[in-house]
Amino acid sequence: MNKEVRVRFAPSPTGGLHLGGVRTVLYNYLFAKKLGGKFIVRIEDTDQSRFVPGAEEYIFDTLEWCGLIPDESVRHGGAYGPYRQSERKASYRPYAEQLVASGHAYYAFDTPEELEKMRQEFKTADNPSPQYDHTLRMQMHNSLTLSAEETAALLAAGTRHVIRIRMPEKETVSFTDMIRGQVSFDTSLVDDKVLLKADGMPTYHLAVVVDDYAMRISHAFRGEEWLPSAPVHILLWKYLFGMEQMPQWAHFPLILGPSGKLSKRDGAKYGFPVFAMNWTDPKSGEFTEGFREKGFLPEAFINLLALLGWNEGTEQEIYSLEELVQKFSMERVHSAGAKFDYEKAKWFNHEWIKQSGAGRLEAGVRNLLTENGLTVSDDKMLEKVIELVKDRCTLLPDFVQQAGFFFRRPEQFDIAAIKPKWNEAKQLFFAELIRNYELHPDWEAHTLENNFKEIAAANELKPGELMLPLRIMLVGGKFGPGVFEIAALLGKQETLKRMEICLGMMNNE
Ligand code: GLU
Repeated sequence: MNKEVRVRFAPSPTGGLHLGGVRTVLYNYLFAKKLGGKFIVRIEDTDQSRFVPGAEEYIFDTLEWCGLIPDESVRHGGAYGPYRQSERKASYRPYAEQLVASGHAYYAFDTPEELEKMRQEFKTADNPSPQYDHTLRMQMHNSLTLSAEETAALLAAGTRHVIRIRMPEKETVSFTDMIRGQVSFDTSLVDDKVLLKADGMPTYHLAVVVDDYAMRISHAFRGEEWLPSAPVHILLWKYLFGMEQMPQWAHFPLILGPSGKLSKRDGAKYGFPVFAMNWTDPKSGEFTEGFREKGFLPEAFINLLALLGWNEGTEQEIYSLEELVQKFSMERVHSAGAKFDYEKAKWFNHEWIKQSGAGRLEAGVRNLLTENGLTVSDDKMLEKVIELVKDRCTLLPDFVQQAGFFFRRPEQFDIAAIKPKWNEAKQLFFAELIRNYELHPDWEAHTLENNFKEIAAANELKPGELMLPLRIMLVGGKFGPGVFEIAALLGKQETLKRMEICLGMMNNE
């Protein structure tokens, strides 16, 4: 049977989206698009205590920025909605009750005090945090230890209760992970997880299975941190749906920082969220910057994420999203953790800036310049400036330094850099150059350069020694593209003005 490919990203709106989360989205997306399938985003908001207002918006804004547009979601609609679990609340209890009826789950009436007592009473050196599991369940307050009448009476009285899965003892649950191959678990080691909470909301475990079934998910891909939950999910698939329609699983490896696991400190340093959040992230603290604010292009961000755990088996490193869709394959996703290297991330961005046309970069650069108090009135000029300096920019804010002096005369000139080698001959040379340039007819870079060299030769001066002073005069500092290109773009009036200012400064030294 050829099933339609339907994958889902199922975030809980509890914080920002970080590297790992977006990579999960990306691999889901690439897999679905390659096979002509659908990419669904389902908001898993059943844990209301962890809900962060604004987080859902943030998730969708992030996907949009990355260009990973869902086919179905809260924002995009679709035939399998609602796509927010809290709005599907009523659909879960019947499944939990079905599990109780078939003996795979039970009602548990334990109060928080009783649970705490259990933890204290059964705590041993070997087992410092005892779990509600097959070893203890028969000593607790639940429908397995109470008579049918007692249970019915408690339920009829509306007593607070949860529904727990009854994990089988000494069974092996296995499944084939598309990345890891056969994975097996001993069910005796897994606790009796709550499936339905006292407030009637399902837990993640129940909801994820019920919804993957209801939404006809064909492949469930998620981070490795969910691997320990897999046996619970597999059993639920078996008990509720007889394995019919169970998706194929893949658990993506962790993304590691330079020193192992990605730490909060690494995040603060490298801006791991995709962009700044306007709340304090409960998991990772406050971030004022993400990749977007640091000046990454979404194309570069996607490209570097794709290669954090996957490669095509060639030397190629630069891929557009379209190309990734064609080339991505789950077989080439690594099972070992991928190391995130910020310097390499910047390399990707630099490559993308270099290969992007001015048209692609213009809006972002213009915003940055404006934010920094620079006015861009001439679009053509901006385009030329971008083309001229983009190879020198690794992150977008680099354009402020590299392009700023085209739009505003420097406030300071690094005169100290020229002073030690300044002399009368150079003073005369520049005075003559100004006179020559004043009469210059076409104002093209190569003719400006020719005149410069001719006058230098006539004065028996080395052009190399005159280049730095000219650069300082036009740019203010020791950086920037070819100095005659700069002069050509600045135009005659502004070039001469800057030269005169600096020459005046040298005279007064
Ligand atoms: N709601 C889970 C999360 O927040 C989804 C895990 C899964 O994809 O099964 O990541």
